[in-house]
Amino acid sequence: MKTLQRTLTIIKPDAVRRNAIGDIIEQFEKNGFCILAMKMLQISKHQAEQFYAVHAGRPFFTSLTDFMSSGAIVVLALERENAIADLRKLMGATNPANAEEGTIRKKWATNIEHNAIHGSDAEETARFELSFFFAGYELAK
Ligand code: ATP
Ligand code: MG
Repeated sequence: MKTLQRTLTIIKPDAVRRNAIGDIIEQFEKNGFCILAMKMLQISKHQAEQFYAVHAGRPFFTSLTDFMSSGAIVVLALERENAIADLRKLMGATNPANAEEGTIRKKWATNIEHNAIHGSDAEETARFELSFFFAGYELAK
């Protein structure tokens, strides 16, 4: 039996500024991810700090949260078998210098911080991140 899994992805401000929204969403669809919910918004510095709380204290935290609140983002709830791990494969390595050919970060990331896309890294983080951006009724599918 197939077990469907949900994950949260963010098209980051750098990718939105580069008109990459359509290309990235096409990659999700071509790779069999079902879009359950989607919205475009800009988060505040405080909201970025809450979202990335696990990185509080890391040297890049201030810069990362400035960046994530610097412009519009697109957040999507995706569903597929093995969605969490497979989305991270499709994203490519955090540092685009190490990202494989054919990945979203290889194509769109500029550097280790401005790296185009976020994806949940485990089931527990996916639950937190999905509920950070979407209300229960928006995911009731
Ligand atoms: P994400 O959580 O955004 O999906 P990731 O899981 O590949 O990316 P993390 O280690 O969770 O990477 O880091 C979160 C984000 O912080 C990275 O995507 C990147 O934007 C930024 N970041 C990570 N490491 C660095 C660094 N050394 N210098 C600057 N920014 C960094
Ligand atoms: Mg991460």
